[in-house]
Amino acid sequence: MPEGDTVARQCRILDDALAGAVLTACDLRVPRAATTDLVGWTVREVRPRGKHLLMRLDPPGPGAAPLTLHTHLMMDGIWHVDGRPLRSSDTSAGPRPDHTIRIALTARHHDGQETRAIAYDVKQVRLVRTADEDTLVGQLGPDLLDPAWAADPGLRERAVSNLGGEPERPLGLALLDQHLLAGIGNIYRSELCFLARLHPAAPVRAVGDLGQIVDIAHRLLRLNSDRAVRVTTGGMIGRDGDLWVYGRGGRPCRRCRTRIVRGELGEPRLEGAEARVLWFCPRCQAGP
Ligand SMILES: [Zn+2]
Repeated sequence: MPEGDTVARQCRILDDALAGAVLTACDLRVPRAATTDLVGWTVREVRPRGKHLLMRLDPPGPGAAPLTLHTHLMMDGIWHVDGRPLRSSDTSAGPRPDHTIRIALTARHHDGQETRAIAYDVKQVRLVRTADEDTLVGQLGPDLLDPAWAADPGLRERAVSNLGGEPERPLGLALLDQHLLAGIGNIYRSELCFLARLHPAAPVRAVGDLGQIVDIAHRLLRLNSDRAVRVTTGGMIGRDGDLWVYGRGGRPCRRCRTRIVRGELGEPRLEGAEARVLWFCPRCQAGP
């Protein structure tokens, strides 16, 4: 499951490649949009919202309202631009078979250059009026990568109060819940629980300072949205030193040398999270 930083990075590359260009071919291979023709529409911008990608389109002439083409990468989705995968540490960047294409766009720039953007295996492909975007993403909590984050303390306050709103819920589940705050996936929830020195099943109320966790999450996502390789350790440890616990089952904790344990923690109301693996240090992270 791509994390918010990966989605932000893919959006930035798509935006660089497509903004201002006019669609000359458009193939939406999903039943509800298959007959939609977006030829002549201009890509205004591509923006992330949590883990959702929003491609905003302006109509060819007056009379039509701007539209948003929405996608979610879910487990395996990835965009390619001019044949190059938008690499990430979450998803395989290898070649994808044609039958997994969900969206194929060609766009022409003012100088006549054409760009081809293809989305493989993306989910939740939907087209709505831009004015109605909230019907798709309005339920999300504050976005940790919202450009307004630094200027608007209300975003952080709302994230902290949302997290604190269910004090008995396991921290490892609350952090994943995009309705509370948007952008954290399975990797960051393991890393953040480690940094908070709490077992993922420990209740939210055990966190001394929720604001501090939100601040760390924001900082890590922002730093990593500029990088192809995700780092939560500060990158000071050297080879294989990118993450504290995620994916490190059986290997020594970087803090206390105890072996890292692989566990599972999920709940049905979280997307695809019925039994989601996680990793923790049984010594550093206090139990529930
Ligand atoms: Zn440890």
